[in-house]
Amino acid sequence: MSDVHQAVQNLRKNEYVTIQEPDWSEYFFPSYSILNLQHGTENQVVFRKLLWSDENGGFATYSIKYDATLKESLDLRRFPLDHQLCRIRLTAERTIDEFQFVVVKGQDNKGIGQICAMWHLDDSSRSTVYVRHCDRYLPFASQRSCVNAVFHLERKGEYYFHGKLLMVFLVNILSLCVFAISLEDVSGRLRHLSRCFLAVLAYRYVIDGTLPRKEYLTGADAYIVFACSFQVLLVIETVLFHKFLTIFLKDPVLVDRYVGLSLLLAWCSVNCLLRWLWQHDTGRSNREIWEAIYQKGREPYAPINRCSDCGEMWLSKQCEHSSKKKQCINWPDCFGENTGDTGATESIATIYNTPFQSIPAIVEPQVFPRPPPHLKELAETRK
Ligand SMILES: [Zn+2]
Repeated sequence: MSDVHQAVQNLRKNEYVTIQEPDWSEYFFPSYSILNLQHGTENQVVFRKLLWSDENGGFATYSIKYDATLKESLDLRRFPLDHQLCRIRLTAERTIDEFQFVVVKGQDNKGIGQICAMWHLDDSSRSTVYVRHCDRYLPFASQRSCVNAVFHLERKGEYYFHGKLLMVFLVNILSLCVFAISLEDVSGRLRHLSRCFLAVLAYRYVIDGTLPRKEYLTGADAYIVFACSFQVLLVIETVLFHKFLTIFLKDPVLVDRYVGLSLLLAWCSVNCLLRWLWQHDTGRSNREIWEAIYQKGREPYAPINRCSDCGEMWLSKQCEHSSKKKQCINWPDCFGENTGDTGATESIATIYNTPFQSIPAIVEPQVFPRPPPHLKELAETRK
């Protein structure tokens, strides 16, 4: 009070603007679950903060930190050149009239901070978190809001190419040295070939040990099967020469050498072709690769139905998306439909768009509600 310019003031208790945290269990209880959670979550840290409140209601931030393992199905047919979609899938545990997720677009898109050295995060597409739109006319009262965080991961295949498959290639070159052993020493030849065969098989188990079990052959498996078949061919050649052809041929040693040389050329040229195909494949644009993956995995980022009868296109509803029965939006003017029966004609195709396509936002980014004018605004809510 001694300050005559009133630069320093003392305020009484009721002159402060204070916000008291409410009893959260009575006012704010967002219940949701992670759909692809492998086990329970650990180290769950919850942080709630009331930003403002008055007689009209309040506005709170809610952040939660999880340490969890999530399930994801991997399509390994193209291993070690595979691309995978990894997802965090959340669903509200209350109906859509009570609880809806909304994606808040931040200023900085940091993506994933740490990633395993075997993978590369493709961050060329920015909108990797999305909420499926709410169906305007709800056929089911129990519809729930869902949010998906999708990460585009690309395997760094060089380790497998240079560390494993190149070795398989070299073992087969080594097995071609069988032609340096004389034709009479058939047991020596077969011993050499069986050792090489076992070496190639060992690489198969080394690669399989790093992958989950699956019912199909990966690209690396196919290459090893091809390498094994080549060695079986060498064994057959050895046995045939020893048993039959040495009797008929005038100079079996020379023919044997020529066969060896041509097999070496064939092995090298097929591998050069495979290498070229690999480089050609990696030359595909990112967009083409991800479009194929979204279509195959039916990722519901923005599924659009297209009727082939009338050409109409419309957004596939969240509730109808997985159903096989579909009807044209122009029904009954257009009789385009999918009956879901096997072999029946299907008029409606679903196109799974990716974030690479310029499509209108399914859910508009959230704008923070403005605080009441008589309250001081916090920095967090300012745009
Ligand atoms: Zn139609």
